[in-house]
Amino acid sequence: MEQRCLYDYNLAELTELLKAWGEPPFRARQLYRHLYVNLTASVERMTDLPTTLRRRLAELPLSTLRLERVQIGDAGLTRKALFRLPDGAVVETVLMVYPDRSTVCVSTQAGCGMGCVFCATGRLGLLRNLSSGEIVAQAIWASQELRAMNAAGPSGRVTNLVFMGMGEPFANYDRWWQAVERLHDPQGFNLGARSMTVSTVGLVKGIERLANERLPINLAISLHAPDDTLRSELMPVNRRYPIAELMAATRQYIAKTRRRVSFEYVLLQGKNDHPHQAIALARLLRREAPPGPILVHVNLIPWNPVPGTPLGRSEWERVNAFQQILTDYGIPCTVRVERGVEIAAACGQLAGQTTLMVEMT
Ligand code: SF4
Repeated sequence: MEQRCLYDYNLAELTELLKAWGEPPFRARQLYRHLYVNLTASVERMTDLPTTLRRRLAELPLSTLRLERVQIGDAGLTRKALFRLPDGAVVETVLMVYPDRSTVCVSTQAGCGMGCVFCATGRLGLLRNLSSGEIVAQAIWASQELRAMNAAGPSGRVTNLVFMGMGEPFANYDRWWQAVERLHDPQGFNLGARSMTVSTVGLVKGIERLANERLPINLAISLHAPDDTLRSELMPVNRRYPIAELMAATRQYIAKTRRRVSFEYVLLQGKNDHPHQAIALARLLRREAPPGPILVHVNLIPWNPVPGTPLGRSEWERVNAFQQILTDYGIPCTVRVERGVEIAAACGQLAGQTTLMVEMT
């Protein structure tokens, strides 16, 4: 059985737990504040809690993530953490600091069962789902790291959180959503729903569920090809949910939420970056858009090297030409500025390669 940690509990559950120990509700609120607002790193340091309570709490781990290493890139502004789980699996989390914001990229599974051919994590296969506490604790690490860096201004706290690390969030929906709710809780971590983005390979059932959730978090869909033949080659999930089905779910999602959807498109030299494929992508998105303004956006991602694949990164001229075609068709489109490539922390590179780590904290 999985070991539960304090970050696995929401406020109501902590209140119940402490009630069973004979503690009043305000103690649970005190503890919750320590966990999510003060970011107190250990139960011993929660000195305003009675010693007897601290002793009992210490029987539960604060977090089941054990920080093994932090690798630093981009002159200290990108940090990749490697955590070891109690069962030996590893997960990675990436913190990116910008002048006006700080973004943390969080994993939702150890490994991933989706098998996208361009992705290092996909090669691991699925090891296991993370608990909500293991997902939440990654955001807490990022906040503690920012405090330790003494980052000033708006970047002194996590301002954006993307579920784009290891794993497919919708394949671990319930636990992932518990983590979203806890991170959003205004009494605790207090991260706005619009500051969170979930990225999916296109699990239709997950898109349908998300459309009915009360918190309006952002949705990004990994598309990577404009036709089924190529998409199935790059992403095996396309055989289960082909493009027509995925686009129908997206259309319904937009119609219901009136929220913009991002499409991620990793550019692979000579594979999916031809001008005719840009035209096909633009036509697909225009054709499938519900009536009214186009509520989609395309994120072009120059592919990041994953050793041992025959794939190549698109040259910049091809990236620019692809973007220009989409723009000419009226599809809003940006090229993602990559962070952490040299420390294998960029999109698709996370694979728990402990031997690559160079710096410890
Ligand atoms: S791209 Fe995402 S969904 Fe695909 S294998 Fe990698 S981690 Fe899994």
